[in-house]
Amino acid sequence: MVKIKGLYKTYNYKKNDAFEALHNVTIEIEKGSMTAVIGKSGSGKSTLLHIIGCIDTFEKGSYKFMDKEISRMNSRQSSFFRNKNVGIVLQDFALIESYSVVENVMLPLYFSKGKFNKKKLREKAITALKAVGLDNLSEKSVNKLSGGQKQRVAIARAIVNNPSLILADEPTGALDTQTSAEIMDLFHKLNEKGHTVIIVTHDLDIANQCDSIIEISDGRIKTYN
Ligand code: ADP
Ligand code: MG
Repeated sequence: MVKIKGLYKTYNYKKNDAFEALHNVTIEIEKGSMTAVIGKSGSGKSTLLHIIGCIDTFEKGSYKFMDKEISRMNSRQSSFFRNKNVGIVLQDFALIESYSVVENVMLPLYFSKGKFNKKKLREKAITALKAVGLDNLSEKSVNKLSGGQKQRVAIARAIVNNPSLILADEPTGALDTQTSAEIMDLFHKLNEKGHTVIIVTHDLDIANQCDSIIEISDGRIKTYN
């Protein structure tokens, strides 16, 4: 599903404060798999996830998603592509605190192509909230929720367009052990339903629950033979 070959990512490319965050990265992620990305803080995990999720670009190498070359797309094409195929749970949730739960989950639907009616979008959002066990809180304001509940809202928003690929950046990083286990159960369930899942984590217990582990160190993929 994801084929990355010889990819380089440099922040502030060609400027004097340029910083190479990814160096010659080659990875493959199979459809239907659940993969963990691990590595120390600053190793490039989030950068790699953002590139896979088409929210960041790279200067060299190839990235094919379902055999489509992402680097050949312009930004309009890649955001349309992302909205259709990828759901991303960012490290800091990135929810709108003053909006209700259901309004947050509806947001990505407004960016989809075609005509929409608000009632239909709402139904879609409620379906996503059911999948994460939060439909009973749909009208509540996000700023009244616990960390675990916010994480569920972020996951509901990521799955509302039924993406084939779900990306999550340290989804359990700020949660207690019990809540982390519940969130991981949720990712397992989504994976069983056929979504391909990639989780960035620095928790080895979580990584060990995945089918495969990709380790990054200083922007390079570590391989073990
Ligand atoms: P991780 O998620 O593994 O902690 P990141 O991918 O966030 O690591 O960052 C990798 C490296 O790139 C770090 O050294 C970080 O400081 C640097 N970096 C990340 N984002 C930017 C940016 N927008 N501009 C410049 N450097 C960045
Ligand atoms: Mg990070």
